[in-house]
Amino acid sequence: MKFSRRIEIAASFVLFAGLLSGPAAAQGGKSGVERLYILNCGEGVAGDISRWSPGVNVGKSMDFVDSCYLIKHSQGWMLWDTGVADAIAAMPDGQRPPDPRMTHWRRPKTLASQLDALGVKPSDIKFVAVSHTHPDHIGNVTMFPQSMLLVQKLEYEWPSPVGPRFKPEQPVTKLEGDHDVFGDGSVMLIATPGHTPGHQSLLVKLPRTGAVLLSGDAVHFKENWENRRVPEGNDSKDRTTASMQRLADVMAKEKAQLWINHDKAQRDGQRMSPEFYD
Ligand SMILES: [Zn+2]
Repeated sequence: MKFSRRIEIAASFVLFAGLLSGPAAAQGGKSGVERLYILNCGEGVAGDISRWSPGVNVGKSMDFVDSCYLIKHSQGWMLWDTGVADAIAAMPDGQRPPDPRMTHWRRPKTLASQLDALGVKPSDIKFVAVSHTHPDHIGNVTMFPQSMLLVQKLEYEWPSPVGPRFKPEQPVTKLEGDHDVFGDGSVMLIATPGHTPGHQSLLVKLPRTGAVLLSGDAVHFKENWENRRVPEGNDSKDRTTASMQRLADVMAKEKAQLWINHDKAQRDGQRMSPEFYD
């Protein structure tokens, strides 16, 4: 924590200087987003990568990761995706998929323990937003019964083959398209349907790091992004392709980096919580 504290102090000087001369000052606005933590929400092995890239790399397996992102904003905490269920951490051999071509997940650390290490209680989380309702993204939503769930209406109402996903008593805002989470433009949900009917991605404009676009499962790994490959199980190939183009347009406009949720090679090069991006 000492190390993080030092980063924080250094960052606040940079932020102060940034306020005087940076883009926020130039536009006369002040962004309320302060920092972003990447949490380890799973590690796994995809049995057959061609499931995500039909006809390509048939029979080859690939290591996947599963990421959650915790955002500190002056108006409160927000969690983006909740990963595979914390219960998987107690399974010695992880969770084997029903179909061996899919992903065998393990959980080296629980989400609960990573929040605890930061001194954040589940009840401190104002918003829980999920990219979509696959189990490796909503595994821990029930840990946050007091948080406002931000999900696309289409996704909430989608009759998923994997059973009920949200408790009826969970507070929820059902979105229809893009949404400015804190009303200051610093954290924007971007509708990117295709993987599932109401899939969404998240744009976070950090004060020092700049704009970061969190993919959800609009794409699963870099090679598929570069080749615009669409996984076989997606809801709509056309909408997936259109959403990838939408992400590319947002990246160009906002000069944003794309952080791909399941891309292990990318995450291996990133700072994990308790370190953070500001
Ligand atoms: Zn998915």
